[in-house]
Amino acid sequence: MEIMGIRIPTVISENNAARCEACGDPIEGTPFRVSILDIIATEIAPSFGERSPINPGPFQFCTDRTCPDRWIASRGWLRCSRSEVREIMRPIPLQATGVATIGLCDGIHRDDHEFVSA
Ligand SMILES: [Zn+2]
Ligand SMILES: [Zn+2]
Repeated sequence: MEIMGIRIPTVISENNAARCEACGDPIEGTPFRVSILDIIATEIAPSFGERSPINPGPFQFCTDRTCPDRWIASRGWLRCSRSEVREIMRPIPLQATGVATIGLCDGIHRDDHEFVSA
């Protein structure tokens, strides 16, 4: 698009172009979006050109309620069973079976997390 002779690059996205992160189906209507609140603090910050360990999103899902969980599981992450899948999730660094991973929690409950395979 162009305003006053200045070209404004815009990302043209058609309404039906959004696809679910989990199942890849086109999303009809309003997608359910999940953002990861904070990038995990790493010992050493990524240097120029390196990617942060976590893309904060937002990630878009279709109306299938199982899709966010399937997506979490496909990344090898866990989800806190005391938490719902909400639009904003907090990552908690974990050592699950000796492998460093993260657990996602909405951070609303006050007792200990209970991370389970999503
Ligand atoms: Zn889906
Ligand atoms: Zn939790």
